[in-house]
Amino acid sequence: MDFFESVYKGEPPWDIGRPQKEYIQLVQRGEIVGSILDVGCGTGENVLYMAAQGHKVWGIDFVPSALQKAQEKAAQRHLTATFLVLNALELHTLGRTFDTVIDSGLFHVLSDEERHLFVHNLKCVIRCGGTYFMLCFSELEPGDYGPRRVTQAEIKDSFRDGWSINYIRPATLEGRLRSNGIRAWLSSISKR
Ligand code: SAH
Repeated sequence: MDFFESVYKGEPPWDIGRPQKEYIQLVQRGEIVGSILDVGCGTGENVLYMAAQGHKVWGIDFVPSALQKAQEKAAQRHLTATFLVLNALELHTLGRTFDTVIDSGLFHVLSDEERHLFVHNLKCVIRCGGTYFMLCFSELEPGDYGPRRVTQAEIKDSFRDGWSINYIRPATLEGRLRSNGIRAWLSSISKR
């Protein structure tokens, strides 16, 4: 929390000022349907892109200053979205479900214990048959800067009970400091 709060005082390397290309393509392919929750939405570029496409979108993050920027961008762009300060490990307190949940760079910051709790919380906010899309650093990205790398086996293990993995595909995460992008996994995982 303190780490993210301090990084948001400057220009976070992940905050690229536009939606992630992988999420634009998911929208264009029609994979993103219905109501959407963005977990760890930061300053809201993915949320606002989907809101502009006509979706009802909520974004949660535990850093208030990031959400304040997101609200300001929504107002400037005349877009409507709901932004809430919330810990992703307490999603169950929302008391409602969404058709789709998106995650651009949250899962890979969680510890092993937090992953378990997060997946449990995720179950509370996705309807049965709804889908969680996750974009995370892959172990194929060299070096050790940034968050921990995640393997396909770890993703499969985290979602082994009560979920169907539709695919885990090689993908690219865009970052401000990496002009060629970061090697990532894009996962599509549905709640049974
Ligand atoms: N999705 C955004 C931000 C990615 S960085 C984007 O694509 O730009 C990861 C984000 O997750 C940060 O905004 C951080 O504040 C948030 N975050 C990390 N752990 C969290 C937690 N436990 N609960 C809520 N937000 C969290």
